[in-house]
Amino acid sequence: MVAAPNINIQKVETSKLHSLSLANLPFGKYFTDHMLEADYEDGEWKNIEIKPYQPLLLEPSVAAIHYGQAIFEGIKAYKDKKGNCYIFRPLDNLKRFNISAERMQMPAIPEDIFMEGLRQLINIDKNWIPDQADHSLYIRPFMFSTDPFLGVKPSDTYKFMIILSPTGPYYSKPMRIYVEEKYTRAAPGGIGFTKAAANYGASLLPTEEAKKKGYDQVLWTDAAEHKYVQEIGTMNVFFVIGDKAYTPELESGTILAGVTRDSVITILQDMGIEVIEKSISIDEIIDAHRAGNLREVFGTGTAATISPICELRYEDYVIKFDTDKWKVSPEIKERLDAIRSCEAADTHGWMYKI
Ligand SMILES: *Cc1c(COP(=O)(O)O)cnc(C)c1O
Repeated sequence: MVAAPNINIQKVETSKLHSLSLANLPFGKYFTDHMLEADYEDGEWKNIEIKPYQPLLLEPSVAAIHYGQAIFEGIKAYKDKKGNCYIFRPLDNLKRFNISAERMQMPAIPEDIFMEGLRQLINIDKNWIPDQADHSLYIRPFMFSTDPFLGVKPSDTYKFMIILSPTGPYYSKPMRIYVEEKYTRAAPGGIGFTKAAANYGASLLPTEEAKKKGYDQVLWTDAAEHKYVQEIGTMNVFFVIGDKAYTPELESGTILAGVTRDSVITILQDMGIEVIEKSISIDEIIDAHRAGNLREVFGTGTAATISPICELRYEDYVIKFDTDKWKVSPEIKERLDAIRSCEAADTHGWMYKI
C-alpha cells in the first residue's frame, strides 16, 4: 500500500451552490466551489492543495502560454438515486493523461495523487453532482508548464490542476459533417494521439470554415492523401455498415484513443455486433452508401456520448440519413446511460465509487 498523498484542504466559507440550480446548465460554464492544485518542482509533485476555486497568478513569461506545453482530460461523475457518487473509468483517463505527458515531455502524475485528489475534491463538492437524468459533473484535470523563461526547452516546473463543472443535459442534435480535404488534425509522428491543448487550437479555423459552409463539424482525413478518415471534430467516429461496425484503428498514432470509443466497442460486442478497427477510406464509405449498406454514422466522446450524423458531405457527394430510424447507436446510448445512472449492472467495472 502506498501512503495516501498529503493534501492540504482549505474550504470555502459559503458555497456558491445555493444561488444556482443544477438543472439544464450549459457545458463548461459554471464551476464548483473548490479546485485542486499541485506543483512540480525539483523533480517531484508538492504543495497538493484543495482550495476555493479562484484565478491563478502567473508570470507573463510562463512557458505554457508561449510554447503550448499543456495537456488535459475530460471525465464525468454521476450520482445514483440513493445519492452514491461514481466516476466513469477515471483510471483510463489517468493512463491517457500520462501518455500525453510523455509525448509532450512533461512529468507523469502518480496514480495516488490523481485518484486521491479526484476522490477528495469530488467528495468535498459532491452536492454539485446533479442527480437529474442526463446530467453529470464534468471533471477537467490539466497540466501546464510554468517556468518563467522564454528559451525553448522542456520546463522544470509544472502545475497540475483539477476543476469541476456541473453540466447537462448535452442534447446532441444530429450533425451535418463536412469531409475536410485541405486542413489536417494529425499526422503520423505528431501529437494526434494525445490530449494536447495544441490539437484544439489548430482545429478552430477549419471548424469555423466548415460552419461558414453550413456544417457543424469536419470529418478529418489523413495528412498524406486526405483519403482515410480519422475523427469527427473532437470525437471518435463509427460507421455501421451492413451488420458490422467500423472505426479507425489506433496504430497510426493519429487518433485519440477515446474512453467512450473503447466503451462503445465493448457495448457493440455485448449487443452481438462485430466491431472492426481498421483504416477506413472515404471511398469505402461512399461505396457502402451506394450499395445501400451504410446504416449509421456517429461520433463518440465524453461530453456528448453519442452524436448522430444526419449528413456527410464529401466534395459533391452528399449522404443524408433519417436518424430517427436508427437502431444501433440509440441502443448503445441507452445501455451506456443505464450503466452510468446505475440502473443497469456495471458488468465491465467502469463505475468507480467515491
Ligand atoms: C477527448 C477526445 C476524444 C474523445 O475521448 P473520450 O475519452 O471518449 O472523451 C476524441 N477525439 C479527440 C481528438 C479528443 O480530444
